[in-house]
Amino acid sequence: MPFGHDMVHSLATAVDLVNTSPATGGEDGLSDLEQLGEFVERWEVSGVGELGAADLNQVRALRDAFHKVFTAPDQATAVIRLNTLLSGTRITPRLTEHDGHPLHVHYFAPGAALSEHLSADLGVALAHLLVEGEWERLRTCSAPGCERVFVDESRNRSRVYCDSRTCGNRMHVAAYRARRRA
Ligand SMILES: [Zn+2]
Ligand SMILES: [Zn+2]
Repeated sequence: MPFGHDMVHSLATAVDLVNTSPATGGEDGLSDLEQLGEFVERWEVSGVGELGAADLNQVRALRDAFHKVFTAPDQATAVIRLNTLLSGTRITPRLTEHDGHPLHVHYFAPGAALSEHLSADLGVALAHLLVEGEWERLRTCSAPGCERVFVDESRNRSRVYCDSRTCGNRMHVAAYRARRRA
């Protein structure tokens, strides 16, 4: 995919955020502050202060807003939904190279709450993806019972399952069995 390292990281963070939602077919992965803290650690979200109940509620609401961008039926709808998400977000571009990461741009305003931090940085990454004409790469898994989202990074945009080690394998085994029965 023609995207830089930090954009890939932001997109992966957005995907994981959405996939913590029970609406994607699993258990709620952001049911309490402990899980929110794990999410922040998992994705090395920087500059996060002490988290409270308000953060949890705001990030859960943001998760739904990102989910709507991933599941938009067409690009025009994705643009409207992403603009709505970004409209309440203060953005302050700032070059940084924290924690051993190469120089990259942060978009969240200094002192931003976690949800605003995430909507700025992940929202801008998705905005770039749409601007590049890559809206179609925002996908939902095709396996029955799985609604997890992913960003299709394959060259020919041919990926249909959220994770080749789980849903992909499951579907390949099912297809193999079906062929053997036929
Ligand atoms: Zn950073
Ligand atoms: Zn799946």
